[in-house]
Amino acid sequence: MSFFKDKHILVTGGTSGIGLACAEHFLKLGGKVIIVGRTERTWLEGPLPAYTGASFIRADLADRQHVGRLFEKIAGSGEGLDIAVNNAGMQGLSFTAIDDYPLSVWDDVIALNLSAVFHCMKHELALITATSKVGSIVNIASVAGLRASFSGGAAYTASKHGLVGLTRATALEHARTGIRINCVCPGLVRTPMSSRELGAELENHGWVHPMGRLCRPEEIAEAVAWLCSPGASFITGSTLPVDGGLMAG
Ligand code: NAD
Repeated sequence: MSFFKDKHILVTGGTSGIGLACAEHFLKLGGKVIIVGRTERTWLEGPLPAYTGASFIRADLADRQHVGRLFEKIAGSGEGLDIAVNNAGMQGLSFTAIDDYPLSVWDDVIALNLSAVFHCMKHELALITATSKVGSIVNIASVAGLRASFSGGAAYTASKHGLVGLTRATALEHARTGIRINCVCPGLVRTPMSSRELGAELENHGWVHPMGRLCRPEEIAEAVAWLCSPGASFITGSTLPVDGGLMAG
């Protein structure tokens, strides 16, 4: 039987790209997955409502009141939480140097990619502790959390470096509690976000990885699920690059 059968799993930004692949992967493994997104229509038009274990909660994670209400709903359901994947994120402005980078976009990127994860993790840790005291959190950072992004701008790189730091610090704080906290650092993944950034040129960007191709969202989902599984039982505070060898060079 799958380790994930009937586990309660939260995936933020789960209606698109990497989050959608993670949510579908856990659903196929028998998990009960709460998908968080900004629009109900995107969720309804996607493949996830077909799974009996899937449910959707609408929230704008950049808004603290939405985050509060989201976790009130999850706590109110009485089903608890075992695993959380903090995936929702935004790119901000690409190919724009700090000299021309608007402060408002900086604020938006930090609010969603970093502060929202901090807020969510506070609630997730409390819920996992109240449920079974044993669980796992995976934050979706980026190779831009380990080195500067070639295209993404300083705000994106700073937010993902911050997320790596948040993951490491909280993993140490919880090292003895039974909750493991890790992050996955994807390279360039074929998703709506990367296509918005690079357009038709995306398909020609496999060269950024030594393996010579783009990453598929399902390959990130496999890594996330493994980090949450008993196979990764002695792993916490890690930053796992899933990048076709990019960080090796
Ligand atoms: P995507 O744009 O396809 O999906 C992002 C998801 O986050 C969407 O479901 C979107 O609705 C949701 N979201 C955005 N803002 C939100 C908000 N304020 N509140 C709630 N949900 C919100 O992007 P993706 O490529 O799948 O990226 C997912 C994560 O992976 C992001 O954190 C991104 O930084 C990271 N990442 C992506 C790549 C890549 O190449 N695509 C590489 C490295 C890291």
